[in-house]
Amino acid sequence: MYKDINPFHIKQLHAMPKHCDKCGQLYNPEPGFYMGAMYVSYGLCVGLFIVCFFGLYILLHIDPVVLLLIYALSLLLLFPFIFRYSRVVYLHLFYDFDPEAITRHQQEQKALKDQ
Ligand SMILES: [Zn+2]
Repeated sequence: MYKDINPFHIKQLHAMPKHCDKCGQLYNPEPGFYMGAMYVSYGLCVGLFIVCFFGLYILLHIDPVVLLLIYALSLLLLFPFIFRYSRVVYLHLFYDFDPEAITRHQQEQKALKDQ
């Protein structure tokens, strides 16, 4: 879904092709489409916080200040993954899996070549 597979190449973090080369799905259906992915990102960060803070606090009884530092560090490290995954989840919220999309796209491409 992304031009550069490595999420730590920050300059290419959000670079996406226009559409999927397998099924033809548009990756940017409308301008500003991925603004809503912020909410998915927020949910992922809250989930990470719950796991990091309460999980480690209950299991390991680590000082809450240290847990906040661990959380902040893990957010810094996981930011590229959270950014990209939230976009993927957001796109999937609006477009369902279509098992016939690949064959339909191949037929369309073949028809374009034959013209
Ligand atoms: Zn596809």
